[in-house]
Amino acid sequence: MSENDYREVTEEGKEKPAVVEGQEQEPENEYEDFCYICRRPERIAGKMIKIPNNICICQDCMQKTFDSMNGAGFSMNDIQNLGKMPNISMINLSDLQGFAPNTQKLKKKKAKEKKEPAIDITKIPAPHCIKASLDEYVVGQEHAKKVMSVAVYNHYKRVASDAKDDVEIEKSNMLMIGPTGCGKTYLVKTLARLLDVPLAITDATSLTEAGYIGDDIESVVSKLLAAADNDVERAEHGIIFIDEIDKIAKKRNTNQRDVSGESVQQGMLKLLEGAEVEVPVGASSKNAMVPMTMVNTRNILFICGGAFPDLEEIIKERLNKEASIGFKARLKDEYDKDENLLAKVEVEDVRRFGMIPEFLGRLPILFTLEALTEDTLVRILREPKNAILKQYQKLLAMDEVKLEFEEDALFAIASKAKEKKVGARALRAVIEEFMLDIMYEIPKDDNIGTVTITREYIEKKGGPVIAMRGCAGSAGNVEALPVL
Ligand code: ADP
Repeated sequence: MSENDYREVTEEGKEKPAVVEGQEQEPENEYEDFCYICRRPERIAGKMIKIPNNICICQDCMQKTFDSMNGAGFSMNDIQNLGKMPNISMINLSDLQGFAPNTQKLKKKKAKEKKEPAIDITKIPAPHCIKASLDEYVVGQEHAKKVMSVAVYNHYKRVASDAKDDVEIEKSNMLMIGPTGCGKTYLVKTLARLLDVPLAITDATSLTEAGYIGDDIESVVSKLLAAADNDVERAEHGIIFIDEIDKIAKKRNTNQRDVSGESVQQGMLKLLEGAEVEVPVGASSKNAMVPMTMVNTRNILFICGGAFPDLEEIIKERLNKEASIGFKARLKDEYDKDENLLAKVEVEDVRRFGMIPEFLGRLPILFTLEALTEDTLVRILREPKNAILKQYQKLLAMDEVKLEFEEDALFAIASKAKEKKVGARALRAVIEEFMLDIMYEIPKDDNIGTVTITREYIEKKGGPVIAMRGCAGSAGNVEALPVL
């Protein structure tokens, strides 16, 4: 039998290259190389010539380089001596160490025949399952969670169906309105993690019209591409969250060009609807040194969020106007004390705030989040899977100390946090303030078994209750740390 008989044969009947024993095969590189000179990827420019330090040059550029050297009348002898001549030096390849990291390379497209449908309709969790998973992390905001679960479910159904027939499902881009720190970003982050899709979070404040100082509008897609590991296909099914969207409202009473307001809204129209955009790979701005690629935003879910300060005034004005007309005329100040005014928002109010109608038309799902009450803040402290209290309890458990909180103490923390008017974000700051002393003092004494945080301690009128190991609960052994 000849040696050839032992060669493996692939499914298509082609021979696989024989593996030489003891010699490790190079793992297949999943990122595409691109030419150092003309920036074209391997897919377009063809096979690359590799030179040390990760530099690749396409055959065209290599040929042009040789041609120009020949044209200049260099002989091979000249080229060899070039490096030795004074004042003339060849490029030192070691200066280019680390050039072209994978952040600037695109992932190779998978072979066509192996391509699976990007989203499998049977694997998309039903809205009630999405909401149940959100419930584990996000407290309250029941309406927002319900709307988002349905919208996301429909969006991915639309992606999966990718219908070419006459019924085309519209995109479910969303606009969420809610005060700061009420969980807008947290909801989107949790959602993206549950669905296992890439997520890019941007601030609308940094965006400006192309050509002005600030980030180009397309940079949001570039961020998503980076979040998807430069895999264009994955990025095309991701989520882009644009925060502080109210900051790009049309500026009132201005004669100047509104490069960070209305123009940004205009510029975003085509992204929201779905367009092929050329984005830089591994950088947020376009320049000659950055490779570019095309990304289609048709199946990217856009979620915009903002606090929209003073929107309540606009809503109140509209409601008062409606209420004062006709037989059903009501008292003028009926809505003054309405705490849930924001929930009555309509597209018209947001338009009056300064968002252009074309922009709002592309965000068909509009919903609001509630401001967090003291009760909700207490629930946020202890209920979520990674609740702050659980985190501190875990930290102290490592010192074999049990950490407990009195019910009253939790309400005292919540009320202190509420005063700061930054929503749940203040909780951590408040807790951090008094836990510092506990975390510092407790490890000093190995006999401490349980620490109970009391309302007095939070209000700086007393100390926490400390119980010694083995005698928990016995009054004789309970002492208080000095008020620190
Ligand atoms: P914003 O609405 O300003 O985007 P975030 O979503 O960033 O606010 O909220 C800040 C932090 O507060 C989050 O990281 C999260 O830990 C906490 N948080 C806010 N709202 C909730 C909530 N409803 N449930 C649980 N945690 C929340």
